[in-house]
Amino acid sequence: MRLAEPTSDEPHHTTMAAPASCEHNFKVIKSDTNIVQWNCNLCHSGPHPFIYECQNCKLKTCRPCTAKA
Ligand SMILES: [Zn+2]
Ligand SMILES: [Zn+2]
Repeated sequence: MRLAEPTSDEPHHTTMAAPASCEHNFKVIKSDTNIVQWNCNLCHSGPHPFIYECQNCKLKTCRPCTAKA
């Protein structure tokens, strides 16, 4: 059953305000399975078996994008 409520894994525009002033604090997240993978929020590359997530604004990016985010 799938209710219409946002989850932490699926950023929703009403719950994911990413301030431009955020000093990103990226932490790598690795998937335990081949099923759960992520696309980069910036360049939309992927899916990746791991992603870098900002602990502050929850932005998820690929490794190259952590440098320019
Ligand atoms: Zn951030
Ligand atoms: Zn990227």
